[in-house]
Amino acid sequence: MIPISKPIIGEAEKRAVVEVLESGRLAQGPRVAQLEERFAQLCGTRYAIATSSGTTALHLALLAHGIGPGDEVITTPFTFIATVNAILFVGAKPVLVDVEEDTFNIDPAQIEAAVTPRTRAIIPVHLYGYPCDMDPILEIARRHGLAVIEDAAQAVGATYKGRPVGSFGTACFSLYATKNVMAGEGGMITTDDPEIAERCRMLRNHGMRERYQYELLGYNFRMSDLHAAIGLVQMDRLEEFTARRRANAAYLSEHLRSVITPTVREGYGHVWHQYTVRVNGGRDRDEAVRRLNEAGIGTGVFYPRPAHHYDHIRRVVGEVHLPVAERLSREVISLPVHPALSQADLERIVEAVNRL
Ligand SMILES: *Cc1c(COP(=O)(O)O)cnc(C)c1O
Repeated sequence: MIPISKPIIGEAEKRAVVEVLESGRLAQGPRVAQLEERFAQLCGTRYAIATSSGTTALHLALLAHGIGPGDEVITTPFTFIATVNAILFVGAKPVLVDVEEDTFNIDPAQIEAAVTPRTRAIIPVHLYGYPCDMDPILEIARRHGLAVIEDAAQAVGATYKGRPVGSFGTACFSLYATKNVMAGEGGMITTDDPEIAERCRMLRNHGMRERYQYELLGYNFRMSDLHAAIGLVQMDRLEEFTARRRANAAYLSEHLRSVITPTVREGYGHVWHQYTVRVNGGRDRDEAVRRLNEAGIGTGVFYPRPAHHYDHIRRVVGEVHLPVAERLSREVISLPVHPALSQADLERIVEAVNRL
């Protein structure tokens, strides 16, 4: 079976973990600080704050922006559930805006109509590693005084009009085991705002600036040095990983027939966390998945239901109809695109898809 994703773990990652084990300092320490520095460099931001996961990064970012009960946050229904759950964690209300059919990302043209006097933030999600159209999103945010919190969990290294994702406001990354840069588990917040950075640092560690001086209700959302050590080695390989993902995606787009292949607009630096095609015209996606799996091709369906079709979210957002997200959730299939694919793997994937 060609897996849909595969963490690439070499000798350098193993050595880095053993070094931390032998140092006797396993919790948040110098490796975490180095990894933060690497993310700040990559994004060109003044600050980066490591967390235990992408989910806790989103949670912290919302708390740091002072978002809570009575507030509304605009985001996409076509995302990993953590994006929407984080809004619920802080007691705010998610307001879901439909997506663009060809990019899978939130449709900027529909955001403004969703803004109310209670709106506090927009969370654009760079789904599959493809950046959202940030210019109109930033413009709406500026006009209405809203925070922009990028969910860049899938998009480390991506660029929009030459500018790195993670640099447009406050941004959240994930270093979960299947992400483009992984640490097993982990997250990162990037920002230029010193107050947001300071609040994130305090909230991640029990509300402390100084040991045992709790200035506010905080959490334990820290990353360990064991995880950061893996992430640091992976960051050294980010360019190589991204180049391989791009080459794999280019090959697939050139050779696949009979499915709708992903769009890449001019000025968008896609990092291909997922390579996602659509089967449409009433064809059965689940049948296509079954046949691909039988042919030894691992697949993913990201995501089989839009967020508003889960009960815990429906209870908050009510009955909404977001036709594009609903249709995409029935049409999408992600194919392997990860850096460990061989040329033979790529040929097998193409052959199996073209036989559908
Ligand atoms: C992975 C992911 C998250 C959550 O990250 P974790 O590290 O798994 O907690 C959030 N949003 C999106 C879009 C993701 O893909």
